[in-house]
Amino acid sequence: MATQNPHVAILPSPGMGHIIPLLEFGKRLATLNGFHVSLFIPTTDASAAQSHFFRSINLPQGLHIIHLPPANVSGLIPTDATIETRLSIIIRESVPTLRSALADLALPTILVVDIFGTDAFSIAEELNIPKYVFFTSTAMLLAFLMYLPKLDVEVTGEYVHLQEPVRIPGCKPIKIENLVDALQDRKNDRYGWMLHHARQYRMAQGILVNTCEGLEPRTIKALREDPILRKIPTPSVHPVGPIIQSEAPLLSGKDCLMWLDRQPDESVIYVSFGSGGTLSAEQMTELAWGLELSRQPFLWVVRPPSGNEKSATYFTSGGRCNHPSEYLPDGFLTRNRGIGLVVPSWGPQREILSHKATGGFLTHCGWNSTLESIVYGVPMIAWPLYAEQKLNASTLTEELKVAVRPIVLPEKEGVGREEIKRVVRLVMDVEDGKALRGRVKEVRDSVLKGLDEGGSSYNSLSHVVDEWKISLQTSRGNVE
Ligand code: UDP
Repeated sequence: MATQNPHVAILPSPGMGHIIPLLEFGKRLATLNGFHVSLFIPTTDASAAQSHFFRSINLPQGLHIIHLPPANVSGLIPTDATIETRLSIIIRESVPTLRSALADLALPTILVVDIFGTDAFSIAEELNIPKYVFFTSTAMLLAFLMYLPKLDVEVTGEYVHLQEPVRIPGCKPIKIENLVDALQDRKNDRYGWMLHHARQYRMAQGILVNTCEGLEPRTIKALREDPILRKIPTPSVHPVGPIIQSEAPLLSGKDCLMWLDRQPDESVIYVSFGSGGTLSAEQMTELAWGLELSRQPFLWVVRPPSGNEKSATYFTSGGRCNHPSEYLPDGFLTRNRGIGLVVPSWGPQREILSHKATGGFLTHCGWNSTLESIVYGVPMIAWPLYAEQKLNASTLTEELKVAVRPIVLPEKEGVGREEIKRVVRLVMDVEDGKALRGRVKEVRDSVLKGLDEGGSSYNSLSHVVDEWKISLQTSRGNVE
């Protein structure tokens, strides 16, 4: 088959937080640019949310989804492996299946992987095609990872024992308590995996980042211009975001939209911890009481407590779970009937955040949730749980000032009910929350402007699209 336009092969890592933005990216390439796009989904014990999502979405012409046969990872993933390790091993073991799947198709002219996908670069090298990363998190995390191989040499001992914040050239220093989870213990496999991917990013022709000038101007400038980062070398960086989901998987919780229709404008605090986030039983009880004491309408996507595991549903999100009455405080559901609503396991987040009744979002600060909240102008309560979420929370509270962060009691390693009540009121109160609401709308406007024709993200994406067209012409020229 003669390809008139680039054929882009995209490989997301498993997990809704990777699949959603990469699918949206693929849709844009297909609809706005007429590209042929193949999205390869590694098969895991797919979560109910993921299976339902693929059954319910509409695909534009030119975009094809190919579910890869399951990679054989038996015996390769230790039972105590973290998400980073699991994702990296699944991708590494999916490379042969991706190679075979590609053999049945018109060959791609570009390969795009995400944060954990760099082991698939070998395929781009075999095919002699350009390879790109679509980075589903912040420019800050990218700058940090670009610099990590250097830090790895410079810092002896554990990062968590450093007395000073970590300094990445040209960027805001990172407080030790906000470091990404993968750096908490250098002996853990996940540290080795992050270092491995960080080194591989240097081999990419370019890195698209799901962020924008309106959100991270200083870090983007550093990635593009700082002499130390340039020397690493850092590939060209293209901030093309925010690219967020355009249709929500209505797995459950349609009723909650009808409930929202009956609430006053900007009165509801939405509580959700992304696809994977889970709380301990003790923290769940405090959160329930905090919401109840705030007397504010709430919509809470609940999951059974999980001991100390903070990402227990990452690979199983949206599945059936016990009835909330089994794990929420006694009488909570009855006392709050009419004031709040709990939705088990999974909710239609895009519809909830864009609903006029939603006035605040208590979020785990996953980057997609964060972008969605900003695009819909909803101020946040930052409740980071795992991965790079603490770093995101600090950007939201200290730099963008679109969120407040509850104080964690060190002796409890959690947030108490009175503190939860305080922050909910702070965000939702007509007077107290006014400045925060005004600020998030300002940020939203600047972010949306970047997506308009001629805006910074629009131009970045156009630049990449042109680059891909040129590379296709050049490779054709070489063949002819
Ligand atoms: N999501 C959703 N309903 C839920 C939970 C999550 O639609 O109940 C979507 C959410 O809108 C976002 C993605 O799943 O697009 C989660 O990505 P994020 O980066 O926020 O967090 P992760 O789950 O990767 O930690």
